[in-house]
Amino acid sequence: MLNGSNVSFGTGSNGTNCAFCNRTDIPSVLKETPNFLIAADHAPLVEGHILIIPKQHYACYGEVPAELDAELSALKHEIQQFFTQFYAPVVFWEHGIFRQTVFHAHLHCFPFGMTGYDLDEQLHNLVVASQEDIRQWYVTQGHYFYMEDASSALLFAPEMDRYLGIVKNVFWRGIVSRGSKVEWRTPQQRYEEGAAHIEALRGKWRSFQQQGVEACS
Ligand SMILES: [Zn+2]
Ligand SMILES: [Zn+2]
Repeated sequence: MLNGSNVSFGTGSNGTNCAFCNRTDIPSVLKETPNFLIAADHAPLVEGHILIIPKQHYACYGEVPAELDAELSALKHEIQQFFTQFYAPVVFWEHGIFRQTVFHAHLHCFPFGMTGYDLDEQLHNLVVASQEDIRQWYVTQGHYFYMEDASSALLFAPEMDRYLGIVKNVFWRGIVSRGSKVEWRTPQQRYEEGAAHIEALRGKWRSFQQQGVEACS
C-alpha cells in the first residue's frame, strides 16, 4: 500500500478487485435499493440463503455509516416477512472480517427459525441494540462476528471457541431444521448444488413481491 503496489493485498482490500463491487459473485440480485442489494448467495447453505450487501465497498457492517441504517432496517424487515411466510424466521449472521471470504460487508440471512443459542452460555460479548453498537465495537475493539434471531442480537469477539460454539448451535441445527444434511461441502460443491436452491428461492421471492404489489393496489 505504501510502496504503490497492492498486489500482495489483492484480495479486495480496496474495491478494485472485489467480487461484490464488480458483482462477479452476485449472480442473482433479488432487489436493489439506493444503497443496497438483496441477492441470493451464489453458494447457498440452504434454500433461502440471502445476502444484504451495501453497494459501496465497506469491510464490514462496522464500517457502514449511520445514514444507511434506516434503509438496512427496512430490508431486514422485508426479509423477515418473506422468510416467515415462505420458510422460517430469519437468523441474520455477519462474520465481520473474521473468517470472511469476500472482503466486502455482507449480512447473511438464513431461514433457521429459533437458534439453539442460550444466552447463559455467555459466548457473546455484547447484546446489540442498534447498528451503532456494532460501529462502536468495530472502532474500539476491531473485529467481531454477529448473530441475530427473533429474540436477540449479539456480537462476539472473533475467537475460535466462540465461533465454533455458534456454528454448532446455530448452523448445524439450522441446516438440519431445513431438512439438509450437515456435512462439510466446499464452496465449489455448494455452488454447483446451489442452482436449484436459487431457482426455488427466486420463485418464492417473485410470489412475495407480487403479493406486495396486490396489497398496495
Ligand atoms: Zn467491494
Ligand atoms: Zn459471508
